[in-house]
Amino acid sequence: EERELEKIRTRNTSTVDGRDITLSANVEFNHEFPLVESSGAAGIGLFRTEFYLLGQGEIPSEEIQYQVYSEAAKCTYPHQAIIRTLDAGGDKLPAEPLPETEPNPFLGWRGIRVSLSRIGMFKEQLRAILRASAHGRLGVMFPLVSAIGELIVAKSILQECMEELDREGVAYDPGIEVGVMIEVPSAAIMADELAKEVDFFSIGTNDLIQYTLAVDRVNKHVSDLYKPTSPAVIRLIKRTIDAANDNNIWTGVCGEMASDLSLTPLLIGLGVDEMSVGTHQLPRIKKAIRSISHAQCAALADEALKMRYSADILKLSRDFAMAHY
Ligand code: PEP
Ligand code: MG
Repeated sequence: EERELEKIRTRNTSTVDGRDITLSANVEFNHEFPLVESSGAAGIGLFRTEFYLLGQGEIPSEEIQYQVYSEAAKCTYPHQAIIRTLDAGGDKLPAEPLPETEPNPFLGWRGIRVSLSRIGMFKEQLRAILRASAHGRLGVMFPLVSAIGELIVAKSILQECMEELDREGVAYDPGIEVGVMIEVPSAAIMADELAKEVDFFSIGTNDLIQYTLAVDRVNKHVSDLYKPTSPAVIRLIKRTIDAANDNNIWTGVCGEMASDLSLTPLLIGLGVDEMSVGTHQLPRIKKAIRSISHAQCAALADEALKMRYSADILKLSRDFAMAHY
């Protein structure tokens, strides 16, 4: 199998009936950048910056961040590298020590909420990303957006950073793609409005499943209730992709669901344009996509959308997967 995977490493990721999928990599640290190309990925679909930003006591300066994001841009060029702004809190480190522990950290001070209440810190990160965008093809996306107002404010701060750089005569890519993560049910429900404000969606299934089903993603006592193929989750994903298509923007999936070989037919059938997965699993996902027909997967997804039980949807997709790869 290793040899077969090596053979397709540099090949495109297209279904047997010719639908191209962008298969990109999830990374957390800059030492992983070289693995992106060697895994056969088309760039970085999710750079989770919080591990690198919060892992060393003090948040690195704009200058240091600029160097790291530039490295991402250069390593992946001509492909894209999507930098996610700080997603502190929840299951990750807090951005700063809080005066009291939060009773419900997943519903608390995390993601874009932190960035919007620490504008100075947020602007340093955005300026660093913009400056680095001059060295390749970067995208930027915002985590845990739960209302359109948050996206509008985040975009206006990004705009402000661009104007500052213009005044300073500093180069950046004015066409940098701006996206929003769809990982809160309210965002999926409002996807038709959010789609008018961005260039792409990236569905964060880890959180979308948790919030849709009210099942803590890290609590082992309820892990059997954590079901990626829940009909409610599938409908939210479908709704998100439809809204994106209606507005001519693309949709990716960067949650763990994209790494599950049993679910590749379902996601392809629902119509995702991009999937971002860990570099370790990436070659197998590429092989899976290259083994299936988009048309057949679309029929499978239509069938899945009529089902009432997560187990039935899982079985449908898994059986198809086992029959084809
Ligand atoms: C997700 O929620 O699916 C996601 C990709 O973000 P994270 O796992 O970093 O919360
Ligand atoms: Mg998330």
